[in-house]
Amino acid sequence: MKVSPLVRTRIAPSPTGDPHVGTAYIALFNLCFARQHQGQFILRIEDTDQTRSTRESEQAILDALSWMGLQWDEGPDIGGPFAPYRQSERKTIYHNHLKTLLDKGHAFHCFCSSERLDALRKTQMEQQKNPGYDGFCLTLSDEEVKQKLAAGESSVVRMKIPESGQCQFEDMLRGTICIDWSQIDMQVLMKADGMPTYHLANVVDDHLMEITHVIRGEEWISSAPKHQLLYQYFGWQMPVLCHMPLLRNPDKSKLSKRKNPTGINYYKRAGFLPEALTNYLGRMGWSMPDEREKFSLEDMIYNFDLKRITLGGPIFDLEKLSWLNGTWIRESLSDEQFGERFKNWLMDDGNLQKLIPHVKERVETFGQVAELCVYFFQDRITLTEQHFTDNKLDLETQKKVLQFSLWRLENLEKWQREAIETATFSLAQSLDIKIRDFVAPLFVALSGRKSAISVIESMEILGLDITRIRLRDAIEVLGGISKKGAKNLEKEFASLV
Ligand code: GLU
Repeated sequence: MKVSPLVRTRIAPSPTGDPHVGTAYIALFNLCFARQHQGQFILRIEDTDQTRSTRESEQAILDALSWMGLQWDEGPDIGGPFAPYRQSERKTIYHNHLKTLLDKGHAFHCFCSSERLDALRKTQMEQQKNPGYDGFCLTLSDEEVKQKLAAGESSVVRMKIPESGQCQFEDMLRGTICIDWSQIDMQVLMKADGMPTYHLANVVDDHLMEITHVIRGEEWISSAPKHQLLYQYFGWQMPVLCHMPLLRNPDKSKLSKRKNPTGINYYKRAGFLPEALTNYLGRMGWSMPDEREKFSLEDMIYNFDLKRITLGGPIFDLEKLSWLNGTWIRESLSDEQFGERFKNWLMDDGNLQKLIPHVKERVETFGQVAELCVYFFQDRITLTEQHFTDNKLDLETQKKVLQFSLWRLENLEKWQREAIETATFSLAQSLDIKIRDFVAPLFVALSGRKSAISVIESMEILGLDITRIRLRDAIEVLGGISKKGAKNLEKEFASLV
């Protein structure tokens, strides 16, 4: 019997926002590759950016991946032989490794002020040169460095990069990739606050956690030269690299929430089956040997072969996903299972719990509940221009209200009642529109009706993903916004207090 060498792969999300379908996509391929080789799949939290990382986001990512059936063998929640699996808890490890690099002369302290670096970047841009550090602090003597450190001057640590020549590295899907060293910056490895950057922490952890294959998105190709160099500096063997093609919107642009819902929780909330979403992600750049479109995770693992990945940007198409979801519902759920799953979805996440206090006050019988809150259980609402014509504001202004609200709401740090209310009401005030008239188009966009549970509460319960898609659909129904129109609106929006 042929025994495969131990394979260890990992997904390494940064907990800085809502769980993204791109994370699940990369996790899926790492999981399949590991399982196929009877190896292990690890989940590591890369939270070195302390200003943007949150525990809520981390939990949401773990929950979303579990919901999709992408179960890991080691991770911050379940531990494992290489714990801790959260980078913020591994600071000493990075400091020790950084010291090795400094001692060997592969890294150096940089004391340049942000003003100097800004000015440098500006000059480089004007001269149409690649922006990057110019090596100013490399000229400092050991003595000068010591003095500055002793005097408590703030500094970062950067890695040294060859001055000329090319870096070559292997990618499992792309073969040999060559990048000129002149394109590569002297990367900061340790920030002034004592936290490592992604590059140092990622390399150190992949090595210490014995990762054998790094399967990640193609946006990381440009980081590979730095990583390869760090492996050389440490005298370690680099894992095999495999950069997956990026998911794209139907217009071929990089998948973005402005054009497609990208949050895993949107799909959960909208009533997609996790097995259908996982199946669909498995079709992104990969296909079954017999090209069949519907397959389970077990099927995918069984038939998995990284070599079957094609590099053209896979299109994430909501219509195709909905179609696939429909086939899962029809072909794979018995009536009993459908009932069970539907009931669970209906009751999920306390959505219903959040609704009850608002519904209770407004009905006389249970029979009136469904009509009052049907829009909480819908995905998208079918609207026409007619829905908006009875509102006080003219249609163009209503469109502006919808777009401005969307921009404001998208920037909220927390999706909470008070924050939503303040954002909405202050916008109405800045535009000098009465609250009642301002919220009317929002009401219609969200619920398809003139009155329902208050707009603010409705938005809070629906969540940002659903709110976004409904406001966007409503803008489209009102004729959409041209490129030029969007520019003007952006200007006006920026000028608001
Ligand atoms: N923390 C990185 C991310 O958020 C991981 C990239 C990698 O897999 O190396 O995508």
